[in-house]
Amino acid sequence: MGKKETIRKKSPPPTNQPVKDVYPTPPPLPVKAPNNGRKNGSTTTGNNCASTTTKDLWDDLFDGGYRADVTIKTDNGDIIYAHANVLGMASPVLRGMLKRAKGCGEKKPISIHGVHQDAVRVFIRFLYSSCYENEEMKEFVVPLLVLSHAYNVPRLKRVVEVELEHGLLNTENVVDIFQLSLLCNAPRLTLISHRMILKNFKAVVATKGWSSMRNSHPGLEKELLESVIEEENNQKEKIRKSKEQKIYLELFEAMEALVHICRDGCRTIGPHDKDFTQNQAPCKYRACKGLELLVRHFAGCKLRVPGGCIHCKRMWRLLELHSRLCADSKVCRVPLCRNFKEKIRKQSKKDEIKWKLLVKKILRTKRIRGSVSFLVSSNSISS
Ligand SMILES: [Zn+2]
Ligand SMILES: [Zn+2]
Ligand SMILES: [Zn+2]
Repeated sequence: MGKKETIRKKSPPPTNQPVKDVYPTPPPLPVKAPNNGRKNGSTTTGNNCASTTTKDLWDDLFDGGYRADVTIKTDNGDIIYAHANVLGMASPVLRGMLKRAKGCGEKKPISIHGVHQDAVRVFIRFLYSSCYENEEMKEFVVPLLVLSHAYNVPRLKRVVEVELEHGLLNTENVVDIFQLSLLCNAPRLTLISHRMILKNFKAVVATKGWSSMRNSHPGLEKELLESVIEEENNQKEKIRKSKEQKIYLELFEAMEALVHICRDGCRTIGPHDKDFTQNQAPCKYRACKGLELLVRHFAGCKLRVPGGCIHCKRMWRLLELHSRLCADSKVCRVPLCRNFKEKIRKQSKKDEIKWKLLVKKILRTKRIRGSVSFLVSSNSISS
């Protein structure tokens, strides 16, 4: 700790010290310093120029191998030169490997196998400067995820996860990434890749990644298939519910329009005690026009079918539904409202439950709570 303090004391004094008078004021810092096209994977912020220069220095140290004291052997026999201090600081796993490699001559030899030698190079460079080329990241994103986990380099793991989430994850690699995310304990990546598999199932199931997963981890394939079925069922249920909602909303609107027609009259139909006026303002009830046709049909239907024709049956049901929603039949002007109230009193338990459920669902659709008098409230006032 003492050493660090000495270095700090040797730093140049801040510009607000008396020496300010001796030196000219420095020019402003450049907005963005060049970084040789390399992407900075570090999350540190601050002085751009200084941090870029430092990173270049670290990159140069790696590229030049100045006083390198470690040799890293890769799969094809390539040797990468590195520095024990840097590797040991960046990765506790490499630190352990270097400890064990002690006493093997001037340069400590270690090996990183199982991934492409260029991926190892990108990995080691990241340990030096936290930088990488976009193309390299694109090509080696899978081995880099493995290396970051295996050698315990969380900052690289984070960078790889972000890169995957923001474009590098695709239908071709998603199965591999999904499996790796489980092995590498990357829950967010698991979630994102799983979501992508569900969304693009047909394309994903045709990939090589899926075939090899089928062979190596049939249990995982089964789980994924089950989740796909579950997702499909969820979607179907969603569609069914939204269709159901639409029907209840239409019924509600029909109920509103029915009261409106019987109370105010609209276009061609009106209450017997009101004068019919041409050139009325456009009707605000969406269901009015259709209902008007139905009412006219109902009034003059000549089809002698038991229980009425299909249109008449619909009208009967609408009238009955109205009666069940109607709060006060005594002042209501909808035909047969009172008659249905009588019928309701004598209905079977089964019918009661069925209708009550329908009424509840219609009212819930419009988020109406408490009283159901909405259909007759203005009616009772106007009559
Ligand atoms: Zn109308
Ligand atoms: Zn009919
Ligand atoms: Zn009524």
